[in-house]
Amino acid sequence: MTAHAIVNALTIDFEDWYQGLEIPHTDWGGFEDRIEVSGRRLLAVLAEAGVHATFFVLGRVAERHPELVGEIAAAGHEVATHGWSHTMIYRMEPDVFRDELQRSLRLLEELGGRSVLGHRAPFFSITRQSLWALDILREAGIRYDSSVYPVLNYRYGIEDAPRWPYAIAEGPPPLLEFPITTWRVLGRNLPVAGGAYFRIYPYALTRTAFRSINRAGHAAVFYLHPWEIDPGHPRIRVPRRIAATHYVNLGRTEGRLRRLLGDFRFAPMVEVLGVR
Ligand SMILES: [Zn+2]
Repeated sequence: MTAHAIVNALTIDFEDWYQGLEIPHTDWGGFEDRIEVSGRRLLAVLAEAGVHATFFVLGRVAERHPELVGEIAAAGHEVATHGWSHTMIYRMEPDVFRDELQRSLRLLEELGGRSVLGHRAPFFSITRQSLWALDILREAGIRYDSSVYPVLNYRYGIEDAPRWPYAIAEGPPPLLEFPITTWRVLGRNLPVAGGAYFRIYPYALTRTAFRSINRAGHAAVFYLHPWEIDPGHPRIRVPRRIAATHYVNLGRTEGRLRRLLGDFRFAPMVEVLGVR
């Protein structure tokens, strides 16, 4: 199979700029919402490229901006869940996780008009400490998860987890896992799937990694947030380890995204996995 024939999964973690900064959701009241601007900008870029994606929508965003979920679905994208409050799963009690998941599913299915089949954890927080969440996802009707990053990071990762899609919880039906893509370099898994890595590395590195992965016959997953193509979003003081990545190269990201969408084939994750 040629690299060009491989269809990769394009995914958007649909949350506002202040929701992924490790600020508790109870303190989100004072921040300026930008997702109507950045979200519609992203929808326009995808429409121009003629590409459909999976939107992992945060429940709190769907509650405040229900019309955006309708626009995402009407444009032909897949609506999936990113949970409700952007809390790391390994810091949640299972009952709270289940309640927030079900609340997000009810709202997204009502607004999107279709069953929600996919889930991505905030901060890729399915780790060895939160594997209990997988059965809860499966019992809620989720068919695939895309939250395990086979790397070591200060807040996520299962370093030796499988790197390509597999059944992570037994069925029927099983729960599939589409791991966040890594590129094997010098015996280590290099994270190359998007977000801050996409903004920090030169574009050529992402392109080389995706080509190499596709040539080996694998589909990659790419992820991005709407705020990453919104360089005008507010600058606030955050811990240094977060500031080190959050504000880097925001002005270049939309151009890079357009190149990526031209250089590779993409589809929603549900199609790449063949789940129905
Ligand atoms: Zn997120």
